[in-house]
This record gives sequence, C-alpha cells and structure tokens, in this order.
Amino acid sequence: MRNRRQSGLIGFYDDPTQTEPTYDPSARCQCIVCNRQLTPPMKTISLMLRGGKRSLFFRVHAPCWENLSDDERATYESSVIDTEARREGRSP
Ligand SMILES: [Zn+2]
Repeated sequence: MRNRRQSGLIGFYDDPTQTEPTYDPSARCQCIVCNRQLTPPMKTISLMLRGGKRSLFFRVHAPCWENLSDDERATYESSVIDTEARREGRSP
C-alpha cells in the first residue's frame, strides 16, 4: 500500500526533448525521506532510466537529502526506479 502511494510522488518525462513533465506530482507531494508535506527549501532529484528515454524526478526537503549518506541516497534512488519500473505500462 505504501508503494502505491509513493508511486504518486514520482514525476517523469517520456522524452528528453519535453520541456514540461508528462506527470508532475508537485501539488500533493511528500518528501520521500521523512514522509511529510514538502516545504521549501526543496531539492529535485532527477534519474535517467537505464537504456530508455524516460527520466524520473522526485522532490525532497533539501536538508533531508543533505543529511543522507551516499549509500542512503542510492537506496532511495533505486527504490524510486523499482517503484516506477513496476508501474511501467500502467496509467498513473
Ligand atoms: Zn523531508
């Protein structure tokens, strides 16, 4: 259930030439680190999907992200990619 909610926090572009994202979750977004509503200062993390044109992004509180170790950041990034990969082919 948590994964289903979290997938709504991930924005994406279908093609690198797009100037606006295909899906932008900003209005109801939560920080994936602390699960609280996003407030400034925020940070947008962009991820390129391997071998694809699609790219993902998610937003976090800047201090939450800065307090993570590199390993922890990698864990969040790969969980976002996994969540999105499972959702692939379905409508948001
Ligand atoms: Zn946070």
